[in-house]
Amino acid sequence: MTGDFLALAQPGVQKLSPYVPGKPVDELARELDIDPARIVKLASNENPLGASPKALAAIRNALDELTRYPDGNGFELKMALAERCGVKSSQVTLGNGSNDILELVSRAYLAPGLNAVFSAHAFAVYPIVTQAVGAQAKVVPAKDFGHDLDAMLAAINANTRVVFVANPNNPTGTWFDARALDAFLNAVPGHVLVVLDEAYIEYAQGGELPDGLNYLKAHPNLLVSRTFSKAYGLAALRVGYGLSSPTVADVLNRVRQPFNVNSLALAAACAALDDSDYLAESRRLNEAGMLQLQDGFRAIGLGWIPSKGNFIAVDLGREAAPLFKELLREGVIVRPVANYGMPNHLRVTIGLPQENARFLEALSLVLTRG
Ligand code: PMP
Repeated sequence: MTGDFLALAQPGVQKLSPYVPGKPVDELARELDIDPARIVKLASNENPLGASPKALAAIRNALDELTRYPDGNGFELKMALAERCGVKSSQVTLGNGSNDILELVSRAYLAPGLNAVFSAHAFAVYPIVTQAVGAQAKVVPAKDFGHDLDAMLAAINANTRVVFVANPNNPTGTWFDARALDAFLNAVPGHVLVVLDEAYIEYAQGGELPDGLNYLKAHPNLLVSRTFSKAYGLAALRVGYGLSSPTVADVLNRVRQPFNVNSLALAAACAALDDSDYLAESRRLNEAGMLQLQDGFRAIGLGWIPSKGNFIAVDLGREAAPLFKELLREGVIVRPVANYGMPNHLRVTIGLPQENARFLEALSLVLTRG
């Protein structure tokens, strides 16, 4: 008799649900038998601008070397990031998306008998990477959908090795300020690694959000994770990075795949980092789109959670799942977030002005119909 390979999986994995990504455009086009060009996808916090021309040119240049393994140490990108971030290159860890950084942290620091602390309504990958290695996920109730940093501190015990905090958080868009981060970092015990997930920080800088890099010197137990998937517009290439003490970077380097960032991604990320015009346009488009969506929600009479990301969670005041399905029928893909404990919200990525308008029109239609 063969074994029950679900029951044989380690207990933490048995209790996991797989990550649910935004529905791909082609999948909906197949299901509805409609032209993909008519579909608007605002479901995965992707950059609506299209990739930077500089990144595209760098990819074309790198194509000639596809038969070779990439630079396993990512020398050039690490140097560029170190210079940009004011750290040593020994403090940089590159990842296959910042998702990879989260995995490296859990593999290096978590194990059965240990735990990771994070907030309710936080990024769905935190429980996955925690339970995948047999560690316990300690989920702390949120305050007004945002991180309750005091309660998170109180949840830390002798077996805690990692705290995941996202600023701003996905899918809520909520954030905390420099005073709150300062107090938190000063109070976290030294044996706990604080993973400050700044996947959306480029959209939020210059405002009320602290820059995690400013805290690295004083806090050797801090790791800041960032990505090229959002404001830099390279989600498909999967490239992110961690900034930490050299010791933590050295530990993460021991458990990563030898070639975890591919050569096209390395080349494109270097070029994207240099394209300040693209970044400025990403931010401008996002700010304008955020206002457009808020104006639209106000006109329909809906509330929302204030957001510092490239997305916004709108409160439909009733179960969102049926309306999500109705929107699909209108060719508009957004993200239901019931699996994040938010059954009445839909998370909508800020798109191009015409995409935002299409979404608002469809939303208003399905709301009046329903
Ligand atoms: N952190 C947060 C908060 C995110 O929302 C995401 C992407 N959805 C990631 C990390 C991972 O993104 P990537 O692996 O593309 O860098």
